[in-house]
Amino acid sequence: MAKTIIFHVDVNSAFLSWEACRQLGNDPEALDIRQIPAIIGGRRELRHGVVLAKSIPASKAGIKTGEPIVHALKKCPNLQIFPPDFSVYRDRSDALMELLRSYAPCVQQLSIDEAFCDMTGTEILYGDPVSFAAKLKQEIYAKLGFTVNIGISSNKLLAKMASDFEKPNKIHTLFPEEIREKMWPLPVSDLLYAGRSSVQKLHNLGIFTIGELAAADPDVLQQHLKSHGKELYNYANGIDPSPVEEQSDAPKGYSNSITLPFDCTDRNDAKGIILSLCENIGTRIRKDNAFVSVVSVTLVDADFCKSSHQTSLPAGTNITDVIYENACKLFDNLWDNSPIRLIGVHTSKASDQCYTQYSLFDTEKNEKLEKLDMAIDSIRLRYGDNAIKRARLLDERKKEPTED
Ligand SMILES: [Mg+2]
Repeated sequence: MAKTIIFHVDVNSAFLSWEACRQLGNDPEALDIRQIPAIIGGRRELRHGVVLAKSIPASKAGIKTGEPIVHALKKCPNLQIFPPDFSVYRDRSDALMELLRSYAPCVQQLSIDEAFCDMTGTEILYGDPVSFAAKLKQEIYAKLGFTVNIGISSNKLLAKMASDFEKPNKIHTLFPEEIREKMWPLPVSDLLYAGRSSVQKLHNLGIFTIGELAAADPDVLQQHLKSHGKELYNYANGIDPSPVEEQSDAPKGYSNSITLPFDCTDRNDAKGIILSLCENIGTRIRKDNAFVSVVSVTLVDADFCKSSHQTSLPAGTNITDVIYENACKLFDNLWDNSPIRLIGVHTSKASDQCYTQYSLFDTEKNEKLEKLDMAIDSIRLRYGDNAIKRARLLDERKKEPTED
């Protein structure tokens, strides 16, 4: 049987790289923002928002992902700040997944900028996996304009750990025989799925490196961390039997989710992200002339706990505002203030007609909103997604006391 070979492909500073690609696509002479101190983040004049992604020069100035933009500006007054644009990210992400699928028999997208590729058995076609990864990395750069890290191993866990080693634009292997040398010396907080509270418990047990966890007594771990203790023990020993699974798209739903490069703790930031997700979903629904009547919101916190809520709408809708309002209500009910890793909005029960009556008042209001959405869609189609932004975020943020 062929030896299992898994690649984990991870885009370097995805949001910033993708913004650089967008700018260079519009104007090949434009300054490459990867070469200057630059970040993706909220709007400067609002003094809100955090650093979502940073260039290498920004990182050399000491700027960290997830820190408030005001702090970043103190470290680097000439910092260039660009707003996030999730539909650009979605396009780049789709292009990457398509390219990966053209080579890999099975691709599992893990987040907007990462995927596992099961390359088992492809050695006959492509040759040695490490040299093929180098070719793949080169092709991604040549065709799509951005760099990736590729981690290679015999399972998903080890491949993902490997892609996280030195960045950017690097290939790393972490085969079982390399675990002792490459993984065990790392701090236990570097282990995949070791969330903040688990790491704290492990520290209390005197376990600070992955190697110490691998050598710990699994019964003791189980006692203190329940079943997750046993899982982490297996991971520390490089054991992960989970297969690469191609996910099938829900046929009649429209979803969008994002794994954040930092832990979001601010309600307004979260709602800004939800609005971007809803904008993207709304545009896709209207493009298909569809309607949705169920909205759900999913959150994954920093300890990888997943929670979600859903609601049924009284009528099918294709209006961004309606989806957004409902998603916000769900979010407010769901969120317990724990740091958020992933936010997802899913809509379903789509049908091709709007089947329930609105009340008279709603009809009038919804007609206005539909016209607004149509106007926004057509402006974006002509001038790009950043040409127009809803005033809602501005309004909401004005109500908040400004911090500084
Ligand atoms: Mg990445």
